[in-house]
Amino acid sequence: MEQLTLFEDMKQPKNKNQLIINDEGKQCLSCEEFKLYDGFYFDKRNNRYTSRCKECCRLAQRERDLEKKNCPERRNLFNSIERKYVQGERRADGRLFWGYSISASPKKNFEVWLKEDSFDNSIEKRDNWCLKRKDQYLNKEKKYKRGYVRDDGMIFWEYCQRHASNDFEKWVSKDDFNKMRFDDTMGCNLRSNLGKFGGKDELREDIFGLNKKDFDDYIESLFEEGMTWDNWGTWVGKWDPENPRWHVDHIIPLSSVDNIEDTKLLWHYTNLRPMWGNQNLSKGKKYCKKERDSFLEERRSAK
Ligand SMILES: [Zn+2]
Repeated sequence: MEQLTLFEDMKQPKNKNQLIINDEGKQCLSCEEFKLYDGFYFDKRNNRYTSRCKECCRLAQRERDLEKKNCPERRNLFNSIERKYVQGERRADGRLFWGYSISASPKKNFEVWLKEDSFDNSIEKRDNWCLKRKDQYLNKEKKYKRGYVRDDGMIFWEYCQRHASNDFEKWVSKDDFNKMRFDDTMGCNLRSNLGKFGGKDELREDIFGLNKKDFDDYIESLFEEGMTWDNWGTWVGKWDPENPRWHVDHIIPLSSVDNIEDTKLLWHYTNLRPMWGNQNLSKGKKYCKKERDSFLEERRSAK
């Protein structure tokens, strides 16, 4: 039996790489699988099929792209380039602008310009891909609730189409989970507070004066002994000194002002600090009028 296989094998025509090649297909140089010719790209310039199969070409391309994406210098450069074209803009040579891609050449400002037919193809492919993704997302069984803890300690945050590469699921570490919950609540409290004055569509970064990450770092820098991202938030029932919780305190209380402009100023990070819940409650609405006026004055002049 073995001899017969060997004999059969010897009859097959082979190319210079000792790979089988015949009228129907050939062996791929990378995976060495025998595939029909439609499993290979046709290289028009050299008028022959590529030596690696489509699958292996795509894999190699993905690896090269990943390498580029993971290079910090390249990423910095990519983030700092001037972006002056919008998709579909036509250049003198007839090519259409597709977009900026970190995989494209830095010498060409990371711009991707396509010929009209490949531009149309790309649009169609993208639209089909979006539809497919949306379909997959809608049909996905959504069995986890926010806060579900996996065996490895990762915590479920949400299902979202943006997380398509991770089966639409976003899992985060415990620390990140607590911070994200904290950021969410801070945003909610801010919106509902400004909502009382009819304020909306405010950029929280502009009001807090810091982005989420820097805001978290700032609050953390003010942690008192025992404060962690794990014991932030409200408690149920009586205050338990064994299991204390902290809040974010407005040093000058929100109740000390009565208009939206001043309220926004009091949400500036410099007026916020972490405080144990029991102290925060006993502090109540006490404040010094002089302190408030000088804080507001300072914030107004900083604008
Ligand atoms: Zn292959």
